[in-house]
Amino acid sequence: MKFKCEDSRLYAEIEDSIVDRIKNVYDINLFEAGGWLFGKYSKDHTTAIIESFIVLPNISKDPETNFEFGKTSKQILDEKWDEGQRILGNFHTHPNNSPEPSLIDSNQSMDFAANEKLNCPQFLLLIMGRDYSTTLHMYTTHDELRLVRDSS
Ligand SMILES: [Zn+2]
Repeated sequence: MKFKCEDSRLYAEIEDSIVDRIKNVYDINLFEAGGWLFGKYSKDHTTAIIESFIVLPNISKDPETNFEFGKTSKQILDEKWDEGQRILGNFHTHPNNSPEPSLIDSNQSMDFAANEKLNCPQFLLLIMGRDYSTTLHMYTTHDELRLVRDSS
């Protein structure tokens, strides 16, 4: 599945097998589920290529409507780093809702983009909503860009 941003030369690619596995996560979770997206950038840095993900527990007090990440084990991140996989963003599901980011989602993603430890200044947020409808947004510390499906 390929996404692009119309205004700037930005692309993201996600393997269909990963989308299918996120659908599985969606199917087995009654409440919001989510996790980190990993991968790499193309050599010209215009394309984020999502190659793997990990699922994290939702620790929100209100898990039916919110997603809050549990602490990620540093070991997992170190292992991914050793495999050449860096954090590109995160994903979560909106099982009963549209895949549009909430205000909380947007603010949280901008915080992640600003987080120097994550070292991910162009932070991707993939949301899967009702009927597997999926959106992808890219965040910087101050901006939200919507990427659309690219069928070319
Ligand atoms: Zn959300």
